[in-house]
Amino acid sequence: MIHLLTPDVYNKIAAGEVVDRPYSVVKELVENAVDAGATQIAVEIEAGGKSLVRVTDNGGGIAREDLPNAYAPHATSKLQTAKDLFGVTTLGFRGEALASIAAVSRMEIVSKQAGCEAYSLSCEGGAAGEVSPASGADGTQVTVRDLFFNTPARLKFLKSDGQEEADVTNMIARFILSQPQISFEYIANGKRKYRSYGDGLASALACVYGAEILSNVYELDADKHGVRLHGYIGDRNFSKPNRSYQSLFVNGRQVVNATVGAAIANAYASYLMKRQYPFYVLFLDVPPEIVDVNVHPNKADVRFADNQVIYGCVYSVVSAVLDGNSRALEYLAMPNTPTAPAQTPTAPAQTPTAPAQTPTAGVPASRTMTEAEAKKELEFTVPVHAGQARGFSYDAPPAPRLEVNMPAPDDAAKEAFEENKKFLLEREMKAKQQRVDPASLEYKGELFRTYLFYECGDEAYIIDQHAAHERLIYDKLLAAGRTVLSQPMLAPFLLEVNAQEFAFLKKNFGVLREIGFEIGEFGGSSVKVSAVPTDLMGIDLNAFFGEVLASMESLRAIRLNDILKDKLASCACKAAVKGGERLTDAEARALIERMDGDMGLKCPHGRPVAVRVKKSELEKLFKRIV
Ligand code: ADP
Ligand code: MG
Repeated sequence: MIHLLTPDVYNKIAAGEVVDRPYSVVKELVENAVDAGATQIAVEIEAGGKSLVRVTDNGGGIAREDLPNAYAPHATSKLQTAKDLFGVTTLGFRGEALASIAAVSRMEIVSKQAGCEAYSLSCEGGAAGEVSPASGADGTQVTVRDLFFNTPARLKFLKSDGQEEADVTNMIARFILSQPQISFEYIANGKRKYRSYGDGLASALACVYGAEILSNVYELDADKHGVRLHGYIGDRNFSKPNRSYQSLFVNGRQVVNATVGAAIANAYASYLMKRQYPFYVLFLDVPPEIVDVNVHPNKADVRFADNQVIYGCVYSVVSAVLDGNSRALEYLAMPNTPTAPAQTPTAPAQTPTAPAQTPTAGVPASRTMTEAEAKKELEFTVPVHAGQARGFSYDAPPAPRLEVNMPAPDDAAKEAFEENKKFLLEREMKAKQQRVDPASLEYKGELFRTYLFYECGDEAYIIDQHAAHERLIYDKLLAAGRTVLSQPMLAPFLLEVNAQEFAFLKKNFGVLREIGFEIGEFGGSSVKVSAVPTDLMGIDLNAFFGEVLASMESLRAIRLNDILKDKLASCACKAAVKGGERLTDAEARALIERMDGDMGLKCPHGRPVAVRVKKSELEKLFKRIV
């Protein structure tokens, strides 16, 4: 027999998807406050959120007649039709959070729209009471007590109070970072943990990580025809032991996304060791038409219409800033950054006006409060807000779940992306154009058995012999049209893969053959390698293909070529002369000949090969000129 589920049973099941832990309750309630246009949000929890979660905002409020609807499943004021899904700009849009939470807790909403009276409505285990008059400031206060009191099985799965609290704290930190224009107050068990001032990202960073973080990061802001990437990234020497210091917000929504993650990780790859992870707080703003936010009920990932463009954008911006090349100037947020940003982290111009208390980072604020701050402090408890009425659309169709297909990006977005691709190419071309005629360079000797000196008119070039040699070998390995030399293997190497991996490799047989692999199908889902490129002789094939397949997911965005390039770079590095090995004069001259005077070169790891020193710069050092 087939039963229709009664709404209270259905809601309890649905609740499991949206809210499984206190932090997800906090997330939903704070998102609602943000969507309501609040500029001040206070969060209070007790016992890790198990006994109490309370979120108070000064947003638009809920009209009296809408209060009962707030508890109804699929009731939302943010979305009218399925078509609206493709341009979602609010954090919530499913209309299930309040209903789901109310089904598994004792909830009370007190809300007041500007110019109206305040009203409250309680709900216990999904059964709503009557709307009654209340008192309160403009805005909304949602109180959730005894989470999961009526679903003991789920209660059992909660972690300790301390661990639940830690997850809530982490969630609040992300909100402080993602909504730097909103002032947050966060209190756990009666103790204030965070206080942010809503006066910008630098201040938000200082609030969450302590003010000294600002001397270890670059602030970047790159706008590339339709895609904007801004925020903070750690400098090359600033790494973290895990990924918890990485925040990515796509169109304001916190997500973990493989494409962006891979782009950033690859940009840092040559600077960080294994098990070191970059620090970043980055905002990626893309046209809503080309991003699908509806990939998961709790919305932790997004899908892009064109991963490759997103990858290219993020990679090129982050690596330019880290490598410290001249392109970086355009991306760094501060116009007065010196040309070698790598050594001089940009201190954000606005020193945070309020390095708030940062209890987690253990850096208490030691200054006295300014008058303006004191005023803000007071304001916080007396929210003033121009309320805006929001109508519900109770009869909106249920939001479709996972099966949403990406719409074709509209013409404007497409055009922007085409332009973007072209722009990236032009950038690369320009970088190749710093050339000096090698015949005009005179070799003058070396220092420290590493740096070679060449003179040319009023300028001198200092070349890092290892970096230069590495680059030359690398170029040779990569040179288009070079004769590919394969080395047959004594016994062919067999690789067992699953169907998905097989399909992926098969699609890329061409690329692999081009660089010298002899590779083909070997019955079932096995692949046979019978020859390897001589340049890659002796590599561990298991590890090599393991790496290729491990990044298969992100490889939809990255071309296989890029992985191979990495491999080639490390082979080049091993083969190159090291610093400390003395070159003969002839070798030093040969090196510059082979560089063909290209002084803009970088070694395969992104370090510069040559540095230019002007005669006038030396004269300044010796005070011959001022
Ligand atoms: P969604 O956010 O997906 O619309 P929710 O269940 O979270 O669904 O909220 C239902 C509706 O209740 C929202 O669309 C909004 O109109 C109203 N609402 C919830 N919280 C608030 C708030 N803090 N301020 C104003 N309106 C709110
Ligand atoms: Mg919501």
